[in-house]
Parts: sequence; C-alpha cells; structure tokens
Amino acid sequence: MTTYPELQLYIGGAWRTTEETLPVVNPATEEEIGRLPIARPQDLDDALTAAAEGFAIWSQTSPKQRADLIREATALMRERQDEIAHAITLEHGKPFGQARLEVIRGCEFFEWDAGEASRTYGRVIPSGPGIKYVVHHQPIGPVAAFSPWNFPMSQPSRKIAGAIASGCSIILKAGEETPAGAMHIAQAFHDVGLPPGVFNLVFGIPADISQHLIPSDIIKLVAFTGSTAVGRHLTGLASDHMTPVLMELGGHAPVIVCEDTNVEAAAVTSAVRKMRNAGQVCTSPTRFFVHDSIFEQFLDVFTTRAAATVVGNGMDPGVEMGPLANERRISALAGMVDDAREAGADVTTGGGRIGSTGYFFEPTVLANVPDHARVMQEEPFGPLAIVNPVDSLDTAIEQANSVPYGLSAYGFTNRADYVDRMVDRIEAGTLSINTLEASLPETPFGGVKSSGYGREGGAEGLHHYTVVKNVSHSIRIV
Ligand code: NAD
Repeated sequence: MTTYPELQLYIGGAWRTTEETLPVVNPATEEEIGRLPIARPQDLDDALTAAAEGFAIWSQTSPKQRADLIREATALMRERQDEIAHAITLEHGKPFGQARLEVIRGCEFFEWDAGEASRTYGRVIPSGPGIKYVVHHQPIGPVAAFSPWNFPMSQPSRKIAGAIASGCSIILKAGEETPAGAMHIAQAFHDVGLPPGVFNLVFGIPADISQHLIPSDIIKLVAFTGSTAVGRHLTGLASDHMTPVLMELGGHAPVIVCEDTNVEAAAVTSAVRKMRNAGQVCTSPTRFFVHDSIFEQFLDVFTTRAAATVVGNGMDPGVEMGPLANERRISALAGMVDDAREAGADVTTGGGRIGSTGYFFEPTVLANVPDHARVMQEEPFGPLAIVNPVDSLDTAIEQANSVPYGLSAYGFTNRADYVDRMVDRIEAGTLSINTLEASLPETPFGGVKSSGYGREGGAEGLHHYTVVKNVSHSIRIV
C-alpha cells in the first residue's frame, strides 16, 4: 500500500505546487499527513484560460470518444481502488471498507454519465415541406464546480462526470480537508490522455476561489455541493452574471415509522445507516417520527444499536464509525446537544466527544425533542438522531415538512395507502420506502426548497451541463 499522495494543483494538463500551503490532518490522530498548495490569483487565471482552451477541443469531440476516455480513466480508478480508499481513510477518517465502497460508487457515477453522453438526445419538431425544426442539446461551456469534504471521491465524481460527459470543461475546487480523491481522479484522467484544460483541479481559500472564478466571462455554469448558506451566497454571485447554477445543498431528512412496520428491523437498519460516514451525509436519516404505539420499542432498539456502534480509527478492522472529519463539527454537535437538553429533550445515548485526541463523537440519540430546540430546524451533520412520537401519519407528514430543507425523506410501512399519502405530500427530492438508500447513479438526485436546485444522476443528470438550441432550416430563403 502506498502512502498519502503528494498534493498539487492540476491546471492545463500539468501538475503544479505553490509556496503557500495548508495542512491536511488525519482526523483520527490529528497528525499532519500532507500539505495542500493554495492557488494564487495567477493560478486561477491560468485555470480559466485552460478551461476555455479545453472546452474548444472537448466540445468538438464526439460523445463516443468522450465516453471511451471516461471509461478508460474509470478502469484505472477501479484498479487503484485500495490505494485511493487508503488515502481517503487517512484524510477523512471513515472505515476503510466504506472508503472502498465510496471509490466504487464514484466509478459508477463516471460509468453512468459516460453512457449518458450518447443519450443527450434532441428532437425533430413536425413541420411543413421545405423547412425542418431540430432541437439540439449542446455543452454549456466551462464549469466552476465546488465539492465538499464528506465524500472525497464520490462528490467530485458527480461534478466531473457530468461536465466532461456533456462535452464541457471544468475547474473543480474540491474540499481542502480531503483532497486525495480528486487528486486521484485527476491522475487517472492525466494517465489516459484527457486533453489539457478539460479538467482542472484547484484548492485554496474557498471564498477567494469562488469570488475569482464565478464572475469570469469564461464560466458558464456554477455547480456546488455543500451547505445551504454557502449555496445561497454562490447563487447570488452567479446571478449577478446571469450564470446558471446547479445546487446540491443541505438536508434534514425525516423518517416516518408507521405502526404496521417491523419495528425491530426498521430500528436496527436505521441506527446502522444513521452512523454511516459519522452522519456527515446530506441524506442522513435524522428526524424520526414514530407512531405512539411502537415508539418505546423503536426507541429502545434504536438506542441499543446506536450505542453499540464500534467507533475508532477507520484503518482498524471492525470499526463501524470513524471520527468526524474536522474539529468544527465537534463544537457544532455539542452545542446542539446542550441546547436540546436545555429545551427538555432526553439524551438516551451519547452526547459528547470521545477522548481528547482525534475528532471522535459519540453516536447520539435524542428523544422527545421539543419543536423549539435548535436541532429540530438545523442540520446536525453528525452521528445524531432525533426520535419523537407522533399520533398519526398526518402529524408525521406535517412535522416532516416543517423545516426549510427538502432533500431526502424516508418511510417504513407496508400499507399502500400510507405510501400513496407520503408520495403525494412529502416535500423532498427523494422519498425511499422501507429502504434508506436515496441515490444511485441511475436515479436523479437533488432537493426542493432550501435543499437546492437541479438534479445529478439519472437521465436528468446531464441537463444542466447542456443548453437547448432550436435550429430552423429552410430549403429556400423565405
Ligand atoms: P461550510 O458551510 O463552511 O462549507 C461547506 C462547503 O462549502 C465546504 O466544502 C467548503 O469548502 C465550501 N465553501 C465554504 N465557503 C465557500 C465559498 N465562499 N465559496 C466556495 N465554497 C465554499 O461548512 P462546513 O463546516 O465545511 O460543513 C458543515 C456544513 O456544510 C454542514 O452543516 C452541512 O450542511 C454542509 N455540508 C453539506 C454537504 C452536502 O453533501 N450537501 C457536504 C458537506 C457539508
């Protein structure tokens, strides 16, 4: 197994370093594992020029050639999956097995979008003799993309795959805490000969980079995954320039547990899923609304399984949950727990930091949380679940919709009429019944309300990366 990669920027098909760097820290040990170069204004200008040149070549490359190259690069990533997963566990903390699954999921995103490259179909509009109307979907242009730290491989994969499958070029700023996944993706594309400038990778001070890239005339789309607050700010910047956006923002997923369900199975599967990635997932199941008649049983099984989660260094065998990815999350979570406790919530397990080295936080369950507690409205983005009783499905749906977010929602029931009601009334971009899987390469993913705008994946995944052009072609001048 190789060590952590040397961190560099990738601009115009070449690697480069800069004088100023940021430390990258292993969140399980707090040891420095690498130094990340900070892009200077000149580096960003070079990336913009490179992206414009890359777009000129790539937009004129056939979808088949684009797809072939994406598949070749993805085959390399699959070959290197252990090496990439190892780097991800070091920088992010998640268990090695989960890191490897994430690498594979990232590869699947590339493979799906490679297939979609050949399916950005236009249409022919019926017309009279001597004239034809044809609708084309053409690549929108160079993209400025921003991916977060919670999934170092699969988050960048979504953006890069969508852009380059569509024929766009892209400048990606990946998460500074977890740069290795994006580095490995850049290396794989470099190794298979992606034309210079099609994919550029930068790191640095996030606000400086977005402020520099988004106002540029070269950028034709802004794609962001992260918090609603930052998404709103970037949307404002983009709107000053009439640049469209693709926004995958926060969530605060409700889970409705109906009285007819298998309580034990629902509680165990939910507790395990809640702790995946230490809860740092925008689709993480968080607000459980459980029918009164099964509430005590559900809470008991859920709490017991959550408390039994094996927490530790993601490199150690048997570990189910690693540390939080950075120190900010510890104080954010501890503050929410204190606030909920003061509001009258019961802490049935966890609630605090584990030890003093490494950013470990206990799997935490809050029960009977009053509506006015902060955690009922704010996304905890950590290993924290709320379990509250409800008297009916209608109350549960009302509670589910009572936050500004609308990303993912879940339900446990075998009753078709309950499912029908949830499908009609839940405000969310994805709804999953009797499963906590919210997103696959082949299904569209995205939010409503403050959870964002647009979809990634599925047949919808490339829409944002293309523009529609209608061509009217008359045989004679009319
Ligand atoms: P944050 O709001 O500071 O940052 C979120 C992400 O946005 C990071 O990747 C960061 O690099 C980027 N960012 C911040 N300011 C930016 C700017 N001006 N321009 C461009 N990019 C910018 O929060 P954080 O402490 O890093 O993460 C915690 C919060 O972020 C969570 O509460 C969660 O809501 C959200 N988050 C969401 C996702 C997701 O998958 N939707 C992923 C990571 C974080």
